[in-house]
Amino acid sequence: MYNHIINFIRETFHQPEGVVPLHAPCFIGNEKKYLNECIDSTFVSSVGKFVDRFEEMVAEYTGAKRAVVCVNGTNALHMAMLLVGVEHGDEVLTQPLTFIATANALSYIGAHAVFLDVDRDTMGLSPAKMRKWLQENAEIRCSECFNKTTGRKIKACVPMHTFGHAVHLEELAELCREYHIELVEDAAESMGSFYKGRHTGTFGKVGAVSFNGNKTITTGGGGMLLFMDEELGKQAKHLTTQAKVPHRWEFVHDCVGYNYRMPNINAALGCAQMEHLQEFVDNKRELAWKYATYFEGTDIQFFTEPRDCTSNYWLNVVLLKDKEARNRFLEETNDAGIMTRPVWQLMNRLPMFKDCECGDLSNAEWLEARIVNIPSSVRLS
Ligand SMILES: *Cc1c(COP(=O)(O)O)cnc(C)c1O
Repeated sequence: MYNHIINFIRETFHQPEGVVPLHAPCFIGNEKKYLNECIDSTFVSSVGKFVDRFEEMVAEYTGAKRAVVCVNGTNALHMAMLLVGVEHGDEVLTQPLTFIATANALSYIGAHAVFLDVDRDTMGLSPAKMRKWLQENAEIRCSECFNKTTGRKIKACVPMHTFGHAVHLEELAELCREYHIELVEDAAESMGSFYKGRHTGTFGKVGAVSFNGNKTITTGGGGMLLFMDEELGKQAKHLTTQAKVPHRWEFVHDCVGYNYRMPNINAALGCAQMEHLQEFVDNKRELAWKYATYFEGTDIQFFTEPRDCTSNYWLNVVLLKDKEARNRFLEETNDAGIMTRPVWQLMNRLPMFKDCECGDLSNAEWLEARIVNIPSSVRLS
């Protein structure tokens, strides 16, 4: 039934046989050179020039005032929660349609997730649904936001830019200002994605990026925190490096810190990858364009970037007619060696989050039944 699509994907990736992966990393630049330099220097671990250079390159590309490396995207999110002041027992608003890391990060602190619906045009947290939920459930006391029913403080909001497509950031930022809620962006998937010309992850108080092996660019494992507030960036550096007070030989630490600093050897890989980021994004956007044109002539809908967003198209998305069609598509394509995947199971269905408070989740449920990711790697000529 889907033979035509399978052939189109094979042609597009110039891969007449074998498995076409969902997203393969791409090493075509200075990766080996920098790794060798790093090893020759013996500074492979917690100090070295590549860490600083990688942070500077990411800050420059994203327009952030400060970028701070982390070991991975999940602990970048964990740090983001701490840095905006989320405490044990607080509530954090987020979307149920996300990768588990978003919900795990706030749980590490003992905060409670509240799952609110996404928009169908972004697949990310819906400002309209969030406004409605806040109007019904929140009250402001002494410039802080509280849940009227649970009595808990609603401290932060974490939208996620699903598969690289930016949420409606301006509306969300405005809503967070109105209700005194801290905005943290899970920009793990959106390195190279812009909203109204400004890089995702720089609208909230903190943005968290991932450089896992399946993301647009990779450091093996890695993450980055983005800040427009330099002072908060400084605090992040302190917190992620065991909160050690700088001294030539004394070991003094002034709070409970974390060993979350990316090793220099991973940062070396990151520097080489950054040199090709824009090229990769342009390449991925061209692929998305090819897909969009192709699927126009079928009864399968290709997901295109929402208004105001220039997406990295990290993982391309098609929407099948219903869950039955989705399952059939998954089976046929995977049987034929074309890697395709459904979206993550909604967070509120997982055992550890099943008792969390939820808003109306009709869009998330609608999307969950229909989304399939199709091969999205950078194509080398
Ligand atoms: C990849 C990802 C993360 C972070 O993942 P790590 O593997 O820890 O780098 C966080 N949130 C989302 C939505 C992601 O896709």
